[in-house]
This record gives sequence, structure tokens and C-alpha cells, in this order.
Amino acid sequence: MPVRTASCSCGQLSAITSADPVRVSVCHCLACQRRTGSIFGAQARFPANSVTIGGASKQFIRVGDAGSRTLFNFCPTCGSTVYYMTEGCEEHIAIPVGAFAEPSFPGPTVSVYEERMHSWVQMPKDIEHME
Ligand SMILES: [Zn+2]
Ligand SMILES: [Zn+2]
Repeated sequence: MPVRTASCSCGQLSAITSADPVRVSVCHCLACQRRTGSIFGAQARFPANSVTIGGASKQFIRVGDAGSRTLFNFCPTCGSTVYYMTEGCEEHIAIPVGAFAEPSFPGPTVSVYEERMHSWVQMPKDIEHME
């Protein structure tokens, strides 16, 4: 299994993964746009037992439209989000794809909230569309 390291901008907070992601998705919702500062979020989901966290983090809880609570862990020094999980689904940990800084990382298979997608963005042709 491939071992990969995700980290924040300053390198203090890291997440080492020892399995391939079980799902890679992008989300165009406005909350993901605000969180990332980019125009969509790209995230990979891993089994929690394949992820090793190192360093200190602060947490922000985002409550979704349907009442779901997602716990974002970010570096208190540089502010990058390195991992997060949704309450009730703690068997999975999501990691922003960009935190791996690995251009060959597996691409997304799911695209969420496309009604918020910026007009110039194009998704891969065979991607699954949700919501
Ligand atoms: Zn940092
Ligand atoms: Zn989103």
C-alpha cells in the first residue's frame, strides 16, 4: 500500500496515510469555497485506522444544511486544514487532496453541489454527479 504524507503549509501538522483513498471527491458548495479559499474543495476519504496524525491542531465544527456536523482540524500556526471527519462517520477521515502536494494523486470520481460550480470549471466527463 502507498504511504503518503499530507501536511499544512508550515509543516507542523501532518497526516500520514498507509492505504489508498476509498473515495476522492470534489465539492463546489459555498462553505467549501470559503474553507479552502479556492473555488471548490477536493478531498480524499481514508479508513481512520490507516491515518496517523502528527502535530497540534485546532478544531472548527461546521454544521451542514441537513444538520450534519463536520469537525475540521487545522494548524494553529498557518491555518491549513489537514484532516476532518463527520460526526457519526468517525471510521473515515477526509484529507484535502492539495495537502498531499502530489500531482499524481488519484483523481475524483464524484462531484458534489454542482449548482454552485463556477461557470468556467469543467469536471472530468465520466465523473458521478451528486445533489
Ligand atoms: Zn502549519
Ligand atoms: Zn462542500
